[in-house]
Amino acid sequence: MYEFSLTNSITRTILALCRRSGWSRVHRAMIKVGGMRKINPELMSFVFTAITKDTPAEGAVLTVMTVPVTLYCYACGRTNHREDTQFLCPSCGSRNVQLLSGLEFNLEVLEVEF
Ligand SMILES: [Zn+2]
Repeated sequence: MYEFSLTNSITRTILALCRRSGWSRVHRAMIKVGGMRKINPELMSFVFTAITKDTPAEGAVLTVMTVPVTLYCYACGRTNHREDTQFLCPSCGSRNVQLLSGLEFNLEVLEVEF
C-alpha cells in the first residue's frame, strides 16, 4: 500500500525530530503531496492515527494538502493543470511538456509541545 509507506516515512521523520528536539507532543502535522502521487488523504490520516499510537504523535491530526499537477507545454506555450497523471498538454495534446508541480512530498507545518 503506497499510502502506508509514505505515511510511515513521514511519521519516522516527525518522531526523529521529536527525539532530536525534545518535543513531548505533536498536535498537528500538515504535509503537501503532489497530485502525480495519486494518494488517498483519508487513508493517510487513518494510517497515521494507527501507527502513531503510543508515540509523542498519538492523537495528532494529519492534514494532507494536495498540490495540483501543473504542466508547461513547449508546443503551445500554455501552463495547465491536469486532474489525471497523463503527460499530455490538456490544451493541444502535445507530449512536449514539462512537469512544474505534482511530485511534492513535504512536511509543511508541525505543531508541537515542549
Ligand atoms: Zn499545448
